[in-house]
Amino acid sequence: MPKPFLLLKTLLIANLLLVSGLPLANSDNTQRADEIFSLIDNGIAINEHERYLALIDELDSVVAENDTWRQLRKARARCWSFDIFKEGEVDKALTFVEHALTHPLLSQYPSHKLDLALCQSFYTEQDGDVDLALKGYNKAINDAYALEDLRLVADARSIRGYLHSYQGNFTLALEDLISAKSLYQNLNLSDWARLNLYEIANSYRRFGDQKSAIRYFKQLEMDRLKNNHFDAATNISTSIAIAEEELGNLNEAKSRFEKSYQYWRTKGNEVAQATVGVNIARTLIQLGELEQAKQYLDLAKPFIQASDEAFYGFMHLFYGQTYLAEGQFEQALESLSLAQNAFVRVKNMKGLAEQLKIKSDVFVQQGDWQQAYESLNAYVQQHNELDTQLLSTYTTEMRTRFNADQMEEENRHLMKNQQLREIELAILEQNKLQQWIIILLGGLITIIISVFAYKQKQKNKLLSALALTDDLTQLPNRRDIYRKAEEQFEQAMKQQTPLSVITFDADYFKQINDNFGHEVGDDSLKLLANICRSVLGSKYEAARTGGEEFLILLPNTDKDNAFEIAQNLVNKVRTADLSNYPQQFSITISAGVACITRTDEKLSQLLKRADDALYLAKKEGRDQSRML
Ligand code: GH3
Ligand code: MG
Ligand code: MG
Repeated sequence: MPKPFLLLKTLLIANLLLVSGLPLANSDNTQRADEIFSLIDNGIAINEHERYLALIDELDSVVAENDTWRQLRKARARCWSFDIFKEGEVDKALTFVEHALTHPLLSQYPSHKLDLALCQSFYTEQDGDVDLALKGYNKAINDAYALEDLRLVADARSIRGYLHSYQGNFTLALEDLISAKSLYQNLNLSDWARLNLYEIANSYRRFGDQKSAIRYFKQLEMDRLKNNHFDAATNISTSIAIAEEELGNLNEAKSRFEKSYQYWRTKGNEVAQATVGVNIARTLIQLGELEQAKQYLDLAKPFIQASDEAFYGFMHLFYGQTYLAEGQFEQALESLSLAQNAFVRVKNMKGLAEQLKIKSDVFVQQGDWQQAYESLNAYVQQHNELDTQLLSTYTTEMRTRFNADQMEEENRHLMKNQQLREIELAILEQNKLQQWIIILLGGLITIIISVFAYKQKQKNKLLSALALTDDLTQLPNRRDIYRKAEEQFEQAMKQQTPLSVITFDADYFKQINDNFGHEVGDDSLKLLANICRSVLGSKYEAARTGGEEFLILLPNTDKDNAFEIAQNLVNKVRTADLSNYPQQFSITISAGVACITRTDEKLSQLLKRADDALYLAKKEGRDQSRML
């Protein structure tokens, strides 16, 4: 080979090496890494789990060692990828996240740090320390609000919602899950929003409102089937089966369970198959098909780990039932005690109560009246506890749903929620200030600053909508309307113009919830909001100030006109189109009207008169308005 050619070749190779090792390839890698992050952000794990795992592995080769932001972002992705159903994985995850949290530069990246902390709490929950996990979630939510990282707010509220739902705190669960869902929707993360909807449906199911649950599940099932997501559709169908079983539709439940079971068998997913097997056993026991139930349990047993407490507990509970039916009392007690330990570990009250009931049946069969009595006694106690927690399947949940304890809890919760809103508003104020500073400096570097200000504004808009709007009706909330009322009151005093208010409250709303389920209750609140909108137009504004209470401000309007509007509202509600509601459904409201007087010094005096008028309307038979 002639020398010059050799030289050329060497140069060429050197060049290639240089190029491949340097910026060009690096920026390709960075781009690829960001692509992967965005796929993960959008929820690829939900529908394409295997691809998701492969992508996480790929990250190892595309994120540069010295790129701290992406290294930490990678750690976040890795952290959420452990398979909690596999033996030993939760421990591994905890070790991983503990190590990740020691990264020396972590505090410079607060969102990364927060997500890792949330991830740690999640595995802490899986490890059985539910209280510690809940503390972690609460802190994560506060921190996420403080950071204004709405994605993390949604994630943290969604995960806390799951836990609340699992523990039977349905009001809290739904509040978290619904907020998370609307955040995900705002952020255009439809897969995550859908996953949340699934958990909302699950909450209804656990709450005892099986019909609402099934309605949601069927929607989701259809959607999944349409998109060929058969794994997800099967999981949903299993949930429908559980709900059907609780409604007493045992054959419908059995056939759905069997289909899921076959599906997982064909796919070779033994763990999924086993969990369906445990569920099916319960239905079969109720159908009296004990032999078959036991077969399913035996097949499931090798795949249900003790660390998966819920399934492990119920599996042994059902074993206990079959042993009891066969007269093998010692074995029954042994199984029940395994079930008990598992339930205690994760505070599954429903499981515990069922376990005690069966145990007492075993003692009765053995003629051991003392022990039978003690178990039954413990069961009753547990049951009382359950009643307050609304987890009981033995009472009608709808009846206990809005009992006094629960309402008190709700009020306490509303106040807590208000505190969150305060934080949101504080952030809002802070943002406004930042905007002004930015706009002043803007003269110098206008273009960069305007982009920044625009983003801030978007964020503000979202936050302020969140803080000042009632999620359910999309009307202004209590805080918003009271602030406006203060302003209008001051203006009316200063300018000597009239100001009227109408306050109204749905009649016998508790009965609506009891008779038709609180989903219908919620829908009818939306209906009231829509009627307000159509009656008031753009001239006046209504707000939801409490559960089923509303307030309307009527500036420059005297008492007689206000009263006419109130009458109109009462009539419109009574004669509303209810074709989308159950047959027996009807709704009315009572309204109180008051107008500012010369002697008024404070807004609260005006509001108090409206409340008194409302009280009068209620007292005199409801479905009417009164003025004072
Ligand atoms: P009254 O005619 O005297 O107003 O009777 P009422 O049954 O409406 O009594 P009350 O105002 O005391 O109770 C209202 C019920 O509305 C109890 C409460 O738990 C329920 N509620 C509150 N917020 C919501 C909600 O967001 N959705 C649903 N579905 N129900 C709610
Ligand atoms: Mg009411
Ligand atoms: Mg009320």
